[in-house]
Amino acid sequence: MSDTVETVSGVPALFGSNTFNDATQRQRLPKSIYKELKQVQAGKKKLTPEVAEVVANALKDWALEKGATHYTHWFQPLTGITAEKHDSFISPVGDGTVIMEFSGKELTQGEPDASSFPSGGLRATFEARGYTAWDTSSPAFLKTDATGVTLCIPTAFVGYHGQALDKKTALLRSMEALSVQAVRVLKTLGNTTSTRVVTTVGPEQEYFLIDEQYFNDRPDLLLTGRTVVGALPAKGQELEDHYFGAIPDNVAGFMREFNEELWKLGITAKTQHNEVAPHQYEIAVIFDTSNVSADQNQLVMETLRKVASRHGLAGLLHEKPFAGVNGSGKHNNWSMGTDDGKNLLDPGKNPQDNAQFLLFAAAVVEAVDDNALLLRTAAGNPGNDHRLGANEAPPAIISIFLGSQMSEILDAIADGKEIKVKEGVKLELGHNSLPDLPKDLTDRNRTSPFAFTGNKFEFRMVPAGDSISGPNVVLNTVVADVLSKFADRLEKASDKLAETKKIIAESYKAHRKVVFNGNGYSPDWEVEAAKRGLPNVKAWVDCIPEYASQKSIALFTKHKVFSEEELHSRVEIYLEKYAKTINIEAGVMVEMVKKNILPAALEWLTGLTGTIETLKSAKLPTSGAEKQLKEGGALVEKSYGALDALEAKLAKARGTDDVHAKAQSFRKDVFAAMGDLRKEVDALERILPAEFYPYPTYEDMLFRF
Ligand code: ADP
Ligand code: MG
Repeated sequence: MSDTVETVSGVPALFGSNTFNDATQRQRLPKSIYKELKQVQAGKKKLTPEVAEVVANALKDWALEKGATHYTHWFQPLTGITAEKHDSFISPVGDGTVIMEFSGKELTQGEPDASSFPSGGLRATFEARGYTAWDTSSPAFLKTDATGVTLCIPTAFVGYHGQALDKKTALLRSMEALSVQAVRVLKTLGNTTSTRVVTTVGPEQEYFLIDEQYFNDRPDLLLTGRTVVGALPAKGQELEDHYFGAIPDNVAGFMREFNEELWKLGITAKTQHNEVAPHQYEIAVIFDTSNVSADQNQLVMETLRKVASRHGLAGLLHEKPFAGVNGSGKHNNWSMGTDDGKNLLDPGKNPQDNAQFLLFAAAVVEAVDDNALLLRTAAGNPGNDHRLGANEAPPAIISIFLGSQMSEILDAIADGKEIKVKEGVKLELGHNSLPDLPKDLTDRNRTSPFAFTGNKFEFRMVPAGDSISGPNVVLNTVVADVLSKFADRLEKASDKLAETKKIIAESYKAHRKVVFNGNGYSPDWEVEAAKRGLPNVKAWVDCIPEYASQKSIALFTKHKVFSEEELHSRVEIYLEKYAKTINIEAGVMVEMVKKNILPAALEWLTGLTGTIETLKSAKLPTSGAEKQLKEGGALVEKSYGALDALEAKLAKARGTDDVHAKAQSFRKDVFAAMGDLRKEVDALERILPAEFYPYPTYEDMLFRF
């Protein structure tokens, strides 16, 4: 069980107590080793075996003091969740006793076998071995559960020849790519102090909490994370009375412990509130460097589920657990900052800073416009197909919200015009100078998938239940690519400021079609976006192959983020993931409908037939009951028909070999047939007496605890 924070002053002591964070590193490592480790973490030095040895020893002592018995290389295979294999610290000394040992080699490299993780053919072509390698920049932490205390070392997972078999390797490479290109640009602008640029991310995580008993009684939730059948009650979310409402007691108890557990792990759980849908909540943490944030978000999701269960609740992270009410996403707040502390997406105080800010902002606009499909693909997963371009905004169209002021400024630069931003603030654009920017450039727009929010961009399409690594890999790489083109030009230019302005103007002119400050949820936008030529691909399976398009291969190989074979492996893995997911969902649906829902309905109809006979013999009117019988009978019949159709499609999809054709068959045939069956079964549920419905209903799950 958790320690309890009795007073507010307890929080600082609790915070980070289960992580080998910077403060602990400084305290426990010899000064010279600490200094060297910092340089390794900043990418300025290679890790030596000597440093690894000392760090391993300090880590072990710290972990043992905290009760650890095991350690694990914690990594993120392409399943989207995390993986660990525990080894104990014990080492026999030959006289029947053991000592606790942990070497530098055990810290830096592991060989977890792990051959059952998806590799998309990457491992078959080489040796089947997989290695984990210590990510020195993400702090080690302690996990406590029924097995005891385990020291977790964040690692990357690669194949024998260094092929990325996980989500982290590419993320680290993409951060490096962006750093290299951003530093080139900064240098041309006269920056002599920054040596690295890091990407930062602050994810906001949405989730549902429902009574755990209901969760356990719903095979669909239990096995797939979402409900595949279920009719909405009379009340949905239309009153929006849940949003920012008072937090119910059991949820409050959960949140308290959830925060404490996260704080112990050094995770800056900051904001919590009720979301729009009933029983939907959100937690935001303070931003950190992308790889640390990605690790932490995995821990947030894992901890959420664990702590919820302690409170008799089930935490749902699926993007669309319930049809007809809002689903969950993650808002990926993203920026880039220099190692000397300057946020490059923060407008500055003088024209020189502003030139830099506008250049980096323009780079993001160009990158997003040029790679919209790739970004949309990276934000896809089977669950997000229910949101992006389906029943729920944001649409599948990538557009950028800049706010009126930023757009006006960039438009003016692009068109060589002089404009007034606000009363009294006149922008001089005639000369080589760039404008003095108003302090607060922030407007709000909740409907945009990619919004500038004053000092960062918020990518709002990211799926709730998946790792944030994929979307950030793409984001970092596409921005790195545009920056590399900007740097090529700037390095050659003699008048850097004039060239900066020219680049901003040309880039924005060519790419402002992606900027849209209006309501992204309105149907008009789809029409307008089509006119602008913005891609709008609704099904994830239709865009997955984009990872291995000629353009993507050129992009990712140029910046050494993915090799061509790694990209092909992603396509295969994600297509397979889609097919497998729908296969399970359809299988569960068939079971629920065939074995429980329709038999229950038949039982009801049988009873109803008896009732009608009784009424008849009592000479009472039977028209009402007969109407019910007819309606129910018709729906049962239709349901059986739709069930047959689904089973036929499922058999066909299962029998398809080619990975592309199989995924398409699951999308076009099986997924569609599931929708047809659901329509009938949900209609049946609406007239079936409650006692006959064999599962917890939407009303139970969304309005009762
Ligand atoms: P709001 O969305 O209300 O403006 P905040 O400004 O607090 O809220 O930011 C929301 C999220 O954005 C938080 O997770 C925060 O840590 C994150 N964030 C703030 N600054 C940055 C940044 N420079 N890089 C990445 N994320 C950031
Ligand atoms: Mg947000």
